[in-house]
Amino acid sequence: MTNCLIIGSGLVGLSTAYELQNSGFNITVVDNENDGQASKAAAGLLFPLSPWKNSKYMQDLCISGHQEYSILYKNLNNKDRKKINLQKKDLLIFGEDVKSAVSWYRNKDFIQSEFYEENLNSVEKNIKNNYKNFLIIKNIHTVDPINLINYYKKYLEKSNVKFKKESIQDVYSYIELKENLIYDYIIIAAGSWSNQIIKEHKIALKPIKGQLLHLKTEKKLLDKVLLHDSNYIVPKENNTIIVGATIEDVGFNNKLSTDAENYLRDILANTFLNNFKILDEKFFYGFRPRLATDIPYIKTDPNNSRIVYNFGHYRYGILTAISSAKIVKNLIT
Ligand SMILES: Cc1cc2nc3c(=O)[nH]c(=O)nc-3n(C[C@H](O)[C@H](O)[C@H](O)COP(=O)(O)OP(=O)(O)OC[C@H]3O[C@@H](n4cnc5c(N)ncnc54)[C@H](O)[C@@H]3O)c2cc1C
Repeated sequence: MTNCLIIGSGLVGLSTAYELQNSGFNITVVDNENDGQASKAAAGLLFPLSPWKNSKYMQDLCISGHQEYSILYKNLNNKDRKKINLQKKDLLIFGEDVKSAVSWYRNKDFIQSEFYEENLNSVEKNIKNNYKNFLIIKNIHTVDPINLINYYKKYLEKSNVKFKKESIQDVYSYIELKENLIYDYIIIAAGSWSNQIIKEHKIALKPIKGQLLHLKTEKKLLDKVLLHDSNYIVPKENNTIIVGATIEDVGFNNKLSTDAENYLRDILANTFLNNFKILDEKFFYGFRPRLATDIPYIKTDPNNSRIVYNFGHYRYGILTAISSAKIVKNLIT
């Protein structure tokens, strides 16, 4: 049996474990203490935000990612579906992006896009009156990433995948240790920290901090996901909305700044969401792994065919996690 060690138990690592375990591999997953740092913070949109700004490779990965979640969901029993709670919602795009969105979606058949004016609630009507142009995409998927992490972990533990708490310093020396010769492959899925483990083969990866505001309000404000100039507001359960996200090139600095707070509050103001009672508010942050190429690094190491990389998913790591896991599987089979 082929033995694989996966470094990193964020959604990229866990999706890879899930794919390989289901294909008959023997899997161990290690993580230091920060299980899924970026993954836990994510808004959970299983849909590309502004795909026309991305390369064709990334667009295709996002489209297949969207389809992969439909397949995953279809294959689950009702109990597991409840646990993951994948939701379908309409997406309302407005502002500068509408023109690009209309031309990008025109030739795409993986999703239904249209302008329609019925069933708009008061917030949406306000947006329509002020911004004139808008586009609605039907039935995009959203998920709570923590539900997905918990589902994968439980499933994998039941399937005899071993989870260990360990911090890997240098994969080249680690892979040569006598006790690690059992691993046919070591897969690096350590998100923004991945290049710190690869001492000899440096890759231009950096963390891009993203902050979100979670608001619990007295009554339900939104039905649709709103997208305005790459910022979004996502309605969640229990009258909660997620407002995001900042894009900050500040290394691993985890402090909340006033600028970031103002930025998030401005997103709300731009959507005329300013007259409601807040019961609770919390800020979350995560470090998105970004490569200079803007394409995730899913490759075999040029000098050691036992080392495989799967990181650098930047803003789309939840959406593309399953498609990326399938690429890894193809690399090692
Ligand atoms: C605010 C925000 C909102 C986002 N919204 C979305 C969204 O709606 N949809 C979407 O698709 N994407 C979204 N993203 C992007 C997405 O979260 C990331 O692309 C994705 O989570 C990356 O997953 P990962 O598993 O590679 O990294 P992580 O989730 O960060 O996991 C990496 C893991 O590696 C471990 N690790 C690191 N170093 C070591 C080491 N030396 N030894 C052992 N373990 C180690 C860490 O502890 C961590 O658990 C968002 C990101 C942010 C920050």
